[in-house]
Amino acid sequence: MTYPNIDMLIDGRWIGGAAAIPVFDPATESIIGHAPAIDAPTLAGAVAAAARGFSVWRDTPPAERCRIMLRATDLIRARREEIAATMTLEQGKPIVQARAEVDRAADILAWDANEGLRVYGRIIPAAPGLSHSVLRRPIGPVAAFSPWNFPASSPARKIGGALAAGCSIILKPSEETPGTAVLMAHAFQEAGLPPGVLNLVFGDPAHISETLIARPEVRLVTFTGSIPVGKHLAALASAQMKPTIMELGGHGPVIICKDADIERAARLCVTAKARNAGQVCVAPTRFLVEAPVHATFVDAVLRHLAPLVTGNGMDEATDIGPLANARRITAMEEFVSDATERGAELRAGGARIGGPGLFFPLTVLDRVPLNARAMHEEIFGPIMAIRPVADIDEAIKIANATDYALAAYAFTGSARIIDRLGRELECGNLAVNHMTASFPETPFGGEAQSGHGREGGTEGLDGYTVTRLVSVDTR
Ligand code: NAD
Repeated sequence: MTYPNIDMLIDGRWIGGAAAIPVFDPATESIIGHAPAIDAPTLAGAVAAAARGFSVWRDTPPAERCRIMLRATDLIRARREEIAATMTLEQGKPIVQARAEVDRAADILAWDANEGLRVYGRIIPAAPGLSHSVLRRPIGPVAAFSPWNFPASSPARKIGGALAAGCSIILKPSEETPGTAVLMAHAFQEAGLPPGVLNLVFGDPAHISETLIARPEVRLVTFTGSIPVGKHLAALASAQMKPTIMELGGHGPVIICKDADIERAARLCVTAKARNAGQVCVAPTRFLVEAPVHATFVDAVLRHLAPLVTGNGMDEATDIGPLANARRITAMEEFVSDATERGAELRAGGARIGGPGLFFPLTVLDRVPLNARAMHEEIFGPIMAIRPVADIDEAIKIANATDYALAAYAFTGSARIIDRLGRELECGNLAVNHMTASFPETPFGGEAQSGHGREGGTEGLDGYTVTRLVSVDTR
């Protein structure tokens, strides 16, 4: 497996650059490649290219846009193995999960491509000879920033939404996982996407975001990442009166009711927590378990996590790969020591596995006090924070007691409780009796500090369009 060259795509041409930013394999901690750092003139060139690309793509018939996007999607599917291996190498997730992410990215792109055929406006009735047409026009060139935890599906969300709506895009993926996005961009270029419609840049994130957001050609900012960076970018955008789509952090509560199938709930929770070693914005994090089934749930969790294999993601048998960067190891150590010092019981894991490689086992903290950091700061790693609750009232109160409101989960057979959770849990996405928070055809996003705007579903194209009224008097 050779790691791809990390070049930048600007105006339909691949541009190299000095090898400025090292890319690491988190399973070995060795350098596998370098990303370039864009300079100011080249970044200005990317903006000009995106503006030209927009004027071409905006006027390309939706059916043709859809065909090109679907061709790119087919190429991505055909290159699944290469893209997945690149992703595992640079990010660490198990190869089985990386393949699933490539499939998901392709599904997202295909769904968006087809939805682009249905960006309909409407006609408002008026007097004879007078017509009011409401058009949904593409908003313009988009500046997009995607993170390292989902190197394929997060760029797919942004490319899919922008291109399907008729926008051009300048995408800055994470410099920690650049290879996956490079391979995806190759697919779009080979599929016949006109120059300048998709531009890919790498470099100093602060320099790139400040420059792009200040440019008048850029009309929308979309970001997936941490709340502090999201707030910073939203402030920059607001100073230019530009809208934003912000997909920020989460702190997924999981409410386990006493009537639930506890064995099944525990199995699904462990699998969901292990996914991408917990480095997922919709990861289940706070497990709020009704007291009568608390001990049974904890026992079942420990039983289901025992056989999980932590190791190099390239190994087909691996369930939990390394954490993506050393910052996450430090964070996990701090969450565990803070929680145990405050009285939480450590039931599994809890300490880094000896290197090389950034390995941290699936960790179970039980009876975690409410004031522990793990209960209100995004963990973004393989830690389950479990806590017994007296009843649904207490579960809802604790679930809603953070600044986050992204994904939430519940296990119950009671229609009354499901109805109540749907109305009272503060979250963008609630999954009941399963652990999948979003699908290509459903809207995904947060409330409160978890962000605003939606990716996916019909709503996913809304942010990329503006409403324009054309009112004509022919009388
Ligand atoms: P970070 O905030 O430093 O970086 C997050 C992402 O933002 C990275 O891709 C980075 O390149 C980018 N970024 C940082 N500063 C930027 C700027 N000024 N302009 C544009 N982009 C910028 O955090 P991190 O250490 O990479 O991750 C830490 C936390 O971020 C995690 O604990 C988690 O809470 C959150 N996170 C959330 C998601 C998500 O899916 N919502 C994804 C990744 C990280």
